[in-house]
Amino acid sequence: MKDGSIHCAIYAKIYPRFINRRISDTIANRAIWNSNPVTFDQRVGVIREWLNNCCTKHEYCQPSREKLPKRFIDLRGSGQGRSPALAYSDDINASDPLFRYVALSHCWGTATPFASFRTTRVNEARHLHEISISDLPCTFQDAIRVTSALGIRYLWIDSLCIVQDDKKDWAVEAAKMAHIYRGSYLTIAATSAANGDGGLFLGSVQAGLKMQPNGQSIGIAREGYSSRDSYVRYPVASRRVIWEAPLSRRAWVLQEQVLSTRLVHFARDQMYYQCYFGLQSEDGTINDTGFESLRSGAWATEGDSGMGKRDLGSSRSALLTWWSWVTEYSSRVLTFHSDKMAAMAGIAEHYQSRTGDTSVLGLWKRSLWFDLGWHVDMRHPHPPGDQDLQPRLPGIPTWSWLSIYPGKYTTAPLNLEYHEMEGLKSRIKLIHCSVQWQDEPYTSPLVSSELIVEAPVQTTRLPQPRGKNPLRLEFEAEWNEFLRLTLFLDGLLEGAEREGILLLLLFEDAVYEYALALKLQGDGAYARVGFGHIDRPRGAEGFFSGCESKRATLV
Ligand SMILES: [Zn+2]
Repeated sequence: MKDGSIHCAIYAKIYPRFINRRISDTIANRAIWNSNPVTFDQRVGVIREWLNNCCTKHEYCQPSREKLPKRFIDLRGSGQGRSPALAYSDDINASDPLFRYVALSHCWGTATPFASFRTTRVNEARHLHEISISDLPCTFQDAIRVTSALGIRYLWIDSLCIVQDDKKDWAVEAAKMAHIYRGSYLTIAATSAANGDGGLFLGSVQAGLKMQPNGQSIGIAREGYSSRDSYVRYPVASRRVIWEAPLSRRAWVLQEQVLSTRLVHFARDQMYYQCYFGLQSEDGTINDTGFESLRSGAWATEGDSGMGKRDLGSSRSALLTWWSWVTEYSSRVLTFHSDKMAAMAGIAEHYQSRTGDTSVLGLWKRSLWFDLGWHVDMRHPHPPGDQDLQPRLPGIPTWSWLSIYPGKYTTAPLNLEYHEMEGLKSRIKLIHCSVQWQDEPYTSPLVSSELIVEAPVQTTRLPQPRGKNPLRLEFEAEWNEFLRLTLFLDGLLEGAEREGILLLLLFEDAVYEYALALKLQGDGAYARVGFGHIDRPRGAEGFFSGCESKRATLV
């Protein structure tokens, strides 16, 4: 440690091996390597170190504050015998340059929707006076402790700061999610906690062991390293701890992860700090300045430039960013399926504010010709059974991916990559498109939606499925064996449902024509049943050649 050339040995327990890596004095001096027990103050010191570094050196890691939530938890005097209490943001001097707040990102668990600690119309007045800390779940108590220790006065927690049984308050405040997380000085993520009782694992970290030079228990054989002290700990930091954590499976939380500027994951093994700059671990063995090696979607943060940022600047990269969010979001879990629209209000609002495009139930008006071609990715497993037979959520039009049951990977058309989008040509004309909400978009009930398009159409009859996957059909056009169709159905179709399928051409490139598969409903409108593509043999007529365009109302 003294000469700055300390290296740590990282011991992987299952397949014993050593990795020798030079680390800085700062990291070698962290309690997680050399102090047992690792105290709360020492761990808060690491968060301070991350924040100082981020605030002073990372140009793009600046929270942007536009709208404030209606309420915060005021922690003034917390820890000195005074209880926290709700405070209205109208009564707070938010223009004070020192004003800042922390937001909590956490799994509710099954008990929280009914728990008595939530703010309701009945107890709001009491919470404005006092919130009893002992009534709060462990995760909230830990979040209060960490926020206070960082010297930050205000904390935002959804179930306390939104009046849970007031539909209007809920719709208005839930619609501000993008602003709340984008504006937070720091987001505390209870990453490994499955519910409010999980806590932030503040006392669970074990320090490493210092091993003497040439100690037989290590036996580092590398030349040149044998005279230095080594540190050993298990487990070392792993991204999987975050990916596979309960919080990373929740659909609600995606917007909190995508929109936060700075986020500390409190995981079971240690803390991880994530900002626009990258990902760092408490033990210093992860110091990643890009997210390319991480799973996309959950890690896509938006910014103007720099490593690890998703770009919403150009229309094509913005579109791919959107679809990476949709893919991640659609695969995540929702306790209440009816939340599927509300839980993405934040990322929709964020995308809209950055691109100026108009949101159309999870699709975008300017790129509607492309977006309509979403499909359910069959390469990923998803819960089998009822969802395949009845794949739709009620009350949402079939042309929106939001109508598909949560937990299935819904992706951009054929997972097209950036360069592949270059040659695409739209063949669809948007005649009319409108979406009416009762109040705030996505967080209040959908009142009506209308979509009328005009495009070349052909009718066909679907064959019986062959092979393992009944939702993926490959067959030939009845009049030309060289015209091969590949259709991805949204759900199973039986018997007569396979007759009279209308294929509507969305877009094309030099190799394929891409089409929606539609089925006529009783009211003369068409419901979506799938999406697919048709090979365009070199020199031959395309499947849609000579077809007249037809106007169709989609429902
Ligand atoms: Zn940063």
